[in-house]
Amino acid sequence: MSDQTYLDYNATAPLRPEAFELMSALMAAPHNASSVHGLGRAGRLAVEKAREQVAVLAGVPSTQVIFNSGATEANNTVIRYFRKDGPVLVSAIEHPSVLEAADDLIRIPVETNGVVDLNALEALLSEHKPALVSVMMVNNETGVIQPIAEISALAKKYGAMLHCDGVQAAGRIPINMAELGIDFLSLSAHKIGGPQGVGALVLGLCGITPSLLHGGGQEKSARAGTENVAGIAGFGVAAELASIEDYQNLAHLRDEMEARLREISPEIIIHGQNAPRVAGTSMLSLPGVKSETMLMALDLDGVAISNGSACSSGTVKTSHVLKAMGAADEVAGSALRISMGWNTSPEDIECFLAGWEKLYARLQDKVRAHA
Ligand code: PMP
Repeated sequence: MSDQTYLDYNATAPLRPEAFELMSALMAAPHNASSVHGLGRAGRLAVEKAREQVAVLAGVPSTQVIFNSGATEANNTVIRYFRKDGPVLVSAIEHPSVLEAADDLIRIPVETNGVVDLNALEALLSEHKPALVSVMMVNNETGVIQPIAEISALAKKYGAMLHCDGVQAAGRIPINMAELGIDFLSLSAHKIGGPQGVGALVLGLCGITPSLLHGGGQEKSARAGTENVAGIAGFGVAAELASIEDYQNLAHLRDEMEARLREISPEIIIHGQNAPRVAGTSMLSLPGVKSETMLMALDLDGVAISNGSACSSGTVKTSHVLKAMGAADEVAGSALRISMGWNTSPEDIECFLAGWEKLYARLQDKVRAHA
């Protein structure tokens, strides 16, 4: 890996060396998991082992896991399936792969702390009688955790099913689909130390299998396309290594970091601080300074963080999540996200804080003039 201090795990996590090793071995030979010969059967074994490993992450039997190309595909698959027959409610802070998956999705507002407004949800359920509600378990920008069991109970009261984008929850908080009342769950390998371009749609017990790609009958005809054997196996390894306990230990680092940031720069606003948040995500704003300015300065200092909503072009876009939380444009436009994961050390946080202190010293006249 480069010698940059990497604090952008919510964008993508470094690949676990154990996943890399197994993937390299599998990629060295041709494994089509549908072939009947020995190499094919070895590929099949690798896929089925990974299915067991990923199922544990979601608290379901392995038969409920459908591998695909990632959470964007899983989100599109579910939303499009339900949208063709009627209205679908989605929270206003969803990832674009939910928000843009179909036209005219009805947005559920969130409160200023980033938690879905349950009263508004109930009013929308009663008005629109949707077949599906989609709310992410954990927001990728703020780390705010949604009250999924309550959301599910409300959805069920009005006869709707619940889809959750579980990308930022996997390996960070426990997931038990049956207990939480989740009917469909989207997962992505690369947020937990697996490879990019692999993920899963996990089915609850509602008996419906939404499907987007048709063809060769793979994944029991739920998702056609030759399986990405090495990628799926890497996903399995990452799922097995994901330790919620280790992840939750990052809360100490995060809390200490936020306290030091406040000491250095009292003007910062920490978003979602009064809501339940996952341990390793912190999103803050320094009003008066643009995100780009800070991101570039920190990058030059060897620290990789983001503003939480990088476009595919690599440019910086104002966060729709912060806007939905009621943040003013200039607050949303000055946001930074620090996100940690399996290989984050106290030294990484020290490097970031050292860079931040230097940056703030340069900017403080501007910040104070603005305050
Ligand atoms: N949902 C969330 C919450 C995400 O953070 C991401 C990745 N940025 C996605 C969906 C898309 O996942 P993938 O890269 O696997 O398509």
